[in-house]
Amino acid sequence: MTEIERHSYDVVVIGAGGSGLRAAIEARLQGKKTAIISKSLLGKAHTVMAEGGAAAAMGNVNPNDNWQVHFRDTMRGGKFLNNWRMAELHAKEAPDRVWELEHWGALFDRTKDGKISQRNFGGHEYPRLAHVGDRTGLELIRTVQQKVVALQQEDHREFGDYEARLKVWAETTVTRLLVKDGRIAGAFGYVRETGKFVVFEAPAVVLATGGIGKAFKVTSNSWEYTGDGHALALLAGATLLNMEFVQFHPTGMVWPPSVKGILVTESVRGDRGILLNSEGKRFMFDYIPEVFKDKYATTPEEADRWYDDPDNNRRPPELLPRDEVARAINSEVKAGRGSPHGGVFLTVVGRMPGGAEEIKRRLPAMHHQFKELADVDITKEPMEVGPTCHYVMGGVEVDPDTAAALVPGLFAAGEVAGGMHGSNRLGGNSLTDLLVFGRRAGLGAAEYVDSLGEARPAPDAEEIERAAAEALAPFEREGGESPYAVHAELQQTMNDLVGIIRKEEELVQALEALDKLRARVVNVSVQGGHGYNPGWHLALDLRNMLLVSECIAKAALERTESRGGHTRDDYPEMSAEWRKVNLVCRLVGDPDDPRVEIRRQPMESMREDLLALFDVAELKKYMTPEELPAGAAAGD
Ligand code: FAD
Repeated sequence: MTEIERHSYDVVVIGAGGSGLRAAIEARLQGKKTAIISKSLLGKAHTVMAEGGAAAAMGNVNPNDNWQVHFRDTMRGGKFLNNWRMAELHAKEAPDRVWELEHWGALFDRTKDGKISQRNFGGHEYPRLAHVGDRTGLELIRTVQQKVVALQQEDHREFGDYEARLKVWAETTVTRLLVKDGRIAGAFGYVRETGKFVVFEAPAVVLATGGIGKAFKVTSNSWEYTGDGHALALLAGATLLNMEFVQFHPTGMVWPPSVKGILVTESVRGDRGILLNSEGKRFMFDYIPEVFKDKYATTPEEADRWYDDPDNNRRPPELLPRDEVARAINSEVKAGRGSPHGGVFLTVVGRMPGGAEEIKRRLPAMHHQFKELADVDITKEPMEVGPTCHYVMGGVEVDPDTAAALVPGLFAAGEVAGGMHGSNRLGGNSLTDLLVFGRRAGLGAAEYVDSLGEARPAPDAEEIERAAAEALAPFEREGGESPYAVHAELQQTMNDLVGIIRKEEELVQALEALDKLRARVVNVSVQGGHGYNPGWHLALDLRNMLLVSECIAKAALERTESRGGHTRDDYPEMSAEWRKVNLVCRLVGDPDDPRVEIRRQPMESMREDLLALFDVAELKKYMTPEELPAGAAAGD
């Protein structure tokens, strides 16, 4: 029998990004013994890489901002497919969560009169992103980590043990959730340094594992983001929502090849950056879609005036939601008007009143990134940029108020959870999503644990053995394929056939390719020891990426319309009928060789008071007549 360590907690949080740490803090504040498990080192998560800022309607820069405007922007950005209750909670609670960070020691940039400064971002009507230069995620993580340490110090004073109620398991990867009689009983994983197995017994698990980007070839995501939480949820019997919606950020680096996909923050456009094609044309004016026509400037003069006088001018089209900008860049490149390395130009040269010094001050990370990685000085030369797989809107189906998934004891928050962002996330909404729903997930998990009393489900010995056997299988097979080769093919398939622009025949082709890859994934073999063996870890991650890819491709084939992060070449229009439909993925069939099934699930109608926040004329662009507020259908 394999040697396995066992530890017991009330709440296990998988993931140490913003949502995981905020959830763990909350569970611990509720008195629960909590573990934080992180695939990589503590402090290294996507949250750290977030540059632009955290969106919260604090009204510091423009007093007209409030939660209602933020709610409207979020719904518009998501093309009304958002879980409206999540969007409402987010818009209402985001300012408190930013204030809370400040109370815990975060140092945000200030306005001249000393308030937390807020910057413009795509799709946000007013300057709304609280920020720290272009390193906001770093400050967020630093602050919540500091709070974790403060709570550990409290516990040391009380119990003589820093880890009495809050322990971080760094470089530990969960490969299975343990389920007993349909309820969560814990999690199974391995420690990267030694390869040793660990069982975490716990009645409540919060998934906070972030994204899926590594299923695609060109991505801003780093190595950990292999859709683990999404797959763990599916394998435990939970459901995923609207997985077809994948955000391709319009501006990733395109050159040199070794850095292709690395993010170029939207703050560059928020801070006056413009997009040009190879003919020097500011092309975004040609791509303002009908639904946004009244909100965006139609001339460069008006667009430029907006930065100083936003009340009397419309926004520059470079600040359209990300899906629109990514598609526009894609079209320019396809039309032969791209930059030398297959992107377009993004420039801030001569755009800021304070010249080169202001560029360096406002965009220090971008200045450094281009100088170091591409030998480009952004104060003197344009950047070359193109779309990169960045974020998944689809995720675990959760209750908006408690973050509970369908399996009792399972919770999800942050990028791994679905619903909040609809078909397209607005920049800056993720960082506050993490804080709002991380807190709610920690609270939901703690309340669930309380509701159980003494009757906690215990993990089954056989299930633990099966999880261990599954993890060791790549060592047992001889002469199997390299996980790296299979991964490269999976990424190429997703990039080529399930990318920004999709069509039926390519999606069918993708599903056939994924079917073949399934046979190869279960046949990869690895060599070497169990400690720090990246080939082995990739072999285990492949199962997750394959499951997530199948969900994305199947849902993309099913949804015969174009909306947000899902563009069908063969169905270019947005359909009001499809807006009422969520696509839900679950696993069916043989538990040892399950298949992804897609189900259509009607969307719950928006509450009347929230509907009333929109003009009927706008709602008509998205909704069927019967969904409109009473009396509106026949009117104007
Ligand atoms: P993450 O911060 O991604 O953390 C996930 C955690 O889960 C990590 O600790 C990881 O190690 C762990 N994990 C994963 N799988 C396992 C497993 N199997 N076992 C154990 N642990 C696991 N959003 C904004 O709002 N504003 C921005 O300016 C912004 N800029 C961005 C810039 C970049 C380059 C990127 C990549 C994203 C950016 N985003 C931004 C998006 C945002 O940062 C992420 O969506 C968000 O940080 C996700 O947070 P999270 O808590 O859900 O997960």
